Amino acid sequence: MNIKSAEFVCSNTRTDKLPAPTLPEYAFIGRSNVGKSSLINSLTNKKGLAKTSQTPGKTQLINHFLINNTWYLVDLPGYGYAKTSRTNRAEWEKFIRYYLRNRESLQCVFVLIDSRLEPQKVDLEFCSWLGENGIPFLIVYTKADKQSGVKTDQNAAKFRKSLLQSFEEMPQEFITSSENGLGRDEILAFIDEINKQ
Ligand code: GDP
Repeated sequence: MNIKSAEFVCSNTRTDKLPAPTLPEYAFIGRSNVGKSSLINSLTNKKGLAKTSQTPGKTQLINHFLINNTWYLVDLPGYGYAKTSRTNRAEWEKFIRYYLRNRESLQCVFVLIDSRLEPQKVDLEFCSWLGENGIPFLIVYTKADKQSGVKTDQNAAKFRKSLLQSFEEMPQEFITSSENGLGRDEILAFIDEINKQ
């Protein structure tokens, strides 16, 4: 898919102010600092579209970006930041989980996993919750340029093994780097395929 246009549409702290669910949408989520903003900017070819390295856990916004006037890329707030207060976390939970469970135009969720890390409990729990709620999701390993391909594959294999303790089938996986564009075309092709259906 060629990205012809990518525009910021709105930021919301409430699910009742979201754009009308008239276009297919794809959500991106992960722990703070996982590389989500960088990936969104790489996918859309727009450097400043999603703000990178914001103070983690501070703003809890759902950002909608309109791509090629045909679909929404949705930037969800990062989770799992240690310094976020308990109240903040509870708010995040309520808001995001409500969105994920009820958004009728949501096609799937891309869960970002830092490819440099061993499987993290918070990521595994979040994936399990998505599975339990029947929300389709995919795994995106980020920052693959930061280490050897062998190390990335080893960490991905460990994550897969942990996830398969709760799932019969592994969701589709993408290995990416926003630094060198690895995995970008595959993710866009995947979205294109669903949009055509
Ligand atoms: P977010 O908090 O998940 O939105 O993470 P950011 O996109 O702000 O990235 C956090 C940090 O990781 C920043 O310093 C980025 O420059 C860096 N980063 C993100 N993705 C990559 C990547 O693919 N490769 C490398 N080398 N650094 C990355």
